[in-house]
Amino acid sequence: MARRDAVDEQQLGALVAKLDLAAKVRLLTGATAFTLHGAEEIGLDAMAFSDGPTGVRGLKFTGGEPTALLPNATLLSGAWDERAAEEVGRIVAEEAERQHIHVVLGPTINLHRTALGGRLFEAYSEDPLLTGRIAAGYVRGVQTSNVGACLKHLIANEAEIDRNTVDNHVDERTLRELYLLPFQIAVEDSNAWTIMAAYNDVNGVAATEHDEINNVLVKGEWGYDGLVMSDWFATKTVAPAANGGLDLVMPGPVGPWGDALVAAVEAGEVAESTIDDHVLRLLRLAARVGALGEFRAWPEKPVTAAGGKRREELRRLASAGMVVLKNDGDVLPLGDGPVALIGRAAVDTTTMGGGSAQVNAPYSISIDEGLRAQLGDAVTVVDGVEVRTLHVATGAPYVADPVTGEPGVRVVYSDAEGEIAAEHLAQGSTMLGFGDDLPRRPSTVTISATSGVDGPAEVGVIGIGSWTLRAGGTEHVADMTTSGHDVAESILNPPRWSTSTTVAAGEVVEAVATIDPDRMAMLGLVLRPGVRDADEVIAEAAAAASAAGTAVVVVGLTEEQESEAKDKSTLALPGRQDDLVAAVAAAARRTVVVVNASTPVLMPWLDAVDAVLVVGLPGQEGGHAVADVLTGRVEPAGRLVTTWPAADGAAPAWGTVPTDGVLEYSEGRVIGYKGHAAGLAPEPLFWFGAGLGYGRWEYGEPRVKADGDALTVTVPVTNTGSRTSREVVQVYVDPVGDDPVRLAGWTGVYVAPGQTRQAEVVCDRRALRSWDVDAHDWRPVEVGEILVARGLGDVRARVRG
Ligand code: BGC
Repeated sequence: MARRDAVDEQQLGALVAKLDLAAKVRLLTGATAFTLHGAEEIGLDAMAFSDGPTGVRGLKFTGGEPTALLPNATLLSGAWDERAAEEVGRIVAEEAERQHIHVVLGPTINLHRTALGGRLFEAYSEDPLLTGRIAAGYVRGVQTSNVGACLKHLIANEAEIDRNTVDNHVDERTLRELYLLPFQIAVEDSNAWTIMAAYNDVNGVAATEHDEINNVLVKGEWGYDGLVMSDWFATKTVAPAANGGLDLVMPGPVGPWGDALVAAVEAGEVAESTIDDHVLRLLRLAARVGALGEFRAWPEKPVTAAGGKRREELRRLASAGMVVLKNDGDVLPLGDGPVALIGRAAVDTTTMGGGSAQVNAPYSISIDEGLRAQLGDAVTVVDGVEVRTLHVATGAPYVADPVTGEPGVRVVYSDAEGEIAAEHLAQGSTMLGFGDDLPRRPSTVTISATSGVDGPAEVGVIGIGSWTLRAGGTEHVADMTTSGHDVAESILNPPRWSTSTTVAAGEVVEAVATIDPDRMAMLGLVLRPGVRDADEVIAEAAAAASAAGTAVVVVGLTEEQESEAKDKSTLALPGRQDDLVAAVAAAARRTVVVVNASTPVLMPWLDAVDAVLVVGLPGQEGGHAVADVLTGRVEPAGRLVTTWPAADGAAPAWGTVPTDGVLEYSEGRVIGYKGHAAGLAPEPLFWFGAGLGYGRWEYGEPRVKADGDALTVTVPVTNTGSRTSREVVQVYVDPVGDDPVRLAGWTGVYVAPGQTRQAEVVCDRRALRSWDVDAHDWRPVEVGEILVARGLGDVRARVRG
């Protein structure tokens, strides 16, 4: 199928002209949480949107048909491979087609400004070139099948605290060279058919109303012909947003536009031609995704989320981005012999981040399951210390549906007339009033589960309502009706209540909530093993490590840290995981630490361990992918996409808490490695671009070819290791003057042992320029030095420009 960028513009214009004002305005607000209105009179189908960075969730927030859970964005970008990004895009499009989705709400291409950002797991990198190029690959992959992609969130949405009200102050040069650049690259290289405007303000103006960015720059200067939609519930005004370049308000059916926008046009506050342009863009999108005139045919035999094809792809893509940060004495890959696998994240692996990126996965392989599948009885598994402070809705391995026996819970929705519907939910929580498909609004919700826990347990409930919980032979009551939570918080950060009790395996635990039928709510059941004494757990782990000789300790973060709607306050591992690693390292002959997190963590134990492997949030095949890497079936040839600071605050940009409603991006253009290299922050623990793989490399003399503003660097790389490996050759340019050092290009090469290959890196012109504020234009930087490096901590060659 040919990608449908060009559509019949004349026909689109004629269709717009057929609609009266009210009919046009009706199209400019969503019809439901994730769908748009159709218009039969012009042959417009109702388009369906779905979130996308980690998988295509579909129209329902929770439940529904299982859908593939991909490795998270940083793990995918960790492969530094645009072709892999394209493959991810094609997978995403197939997932969308199976669910009859026209537009996928991704990629997220905000930058990793500070490691504290809660949503970095969804975004690719701290570097604008890497982000833009990976995003363009992803978009190409998605749109090849005429499914639309969405670049989000325009612009300066690098943190979550007060995201609906914060005013991010970013100077023009920084906006151009850093935060806008990925959007520009993705528009230029892949023409993403939609863009999402952020919640926040930018320099005093709401992103949804930002004429200068949405109209003048994106639609004007860049010539963008796609559609700009709002983030969900982000639109605050009528005329300023409609005039400020916003084409579509999401979600619907209620929103600030509707009749008020008709009135604003009639009052002359918004020109009808402006409305026409919004509608034209919407129809252009519809034509591209097959929702106008002759509607697209959806595949009759779509790829299944849990089938063999997906399993192979997701396993391969996850392992490709994993990063080896330390490997003393080549302890990795693991040799023969017993292994003690230790840690809560080994048995309850975090396979995705929290918030709107979450999907209803068909299954999720833990590292414990993955490693035992390959090493069998050689592995002894020891659960680690508690890592959560909040209680999360419970899924596998702790609960099963009492009706079907599948991992997860049973939910029954009722009202005064009786039962409305019942469903199985893998995640243990349900979203109501937003993206559900219940025919009537329930006033009672019952969540039940068969306990897999035997003995001391933590039981509880999540969400706004009046609760009765039956567990361990006792009835508990929790009144959470009077919470001051606003709409977004009641969904993304709902109130929680729990207590300690004792449950028997096989016992059915039941929670009944009386709720306000008119209010959106996220409701869930908590059932987990009780928290054990951490000293005891650590002693047990150390004993197992000592007996086995080789210990693999899995530490990490959970959706308590890596989630939409919250930021971190520290990079320290939660709970007593650092103590656990230190004790294991002291007891074992060899210690491998696996980091199950997508963003930097501190490593006070680094010198005491032999190896460190970062595995991100690896998706449904995660445990198998980690096992492939640990056993050496696959080389973890990933490189860091963000700099890992050595201590809290030891980075060029840090805090995310606004002062008087304002967050100053005062560090300007020097986030991440650029700031560390400029001496604005101490040497990091690991540099952006770092990663050892399982290879060893020697670099020869680079040759530089400069032709006008085109710059190509060719360098011989020799694999001096013992296996075929992939090297990511990175070229950085350090300009003369105050322009920061920057990644200018990279290439990945596979080389057999003993062989040499010429790695050719074509530098991207867009990384070799700087924004001239006075001239309001780009000017080329004057190249001072060209660095060929494996991250700036391992520079292999320097050439004067
Ligand atoms: C997020 C968007 C997402 C939207 C729809 C918002 O909370 O910021 O990224 O696409 O919800 O779920």
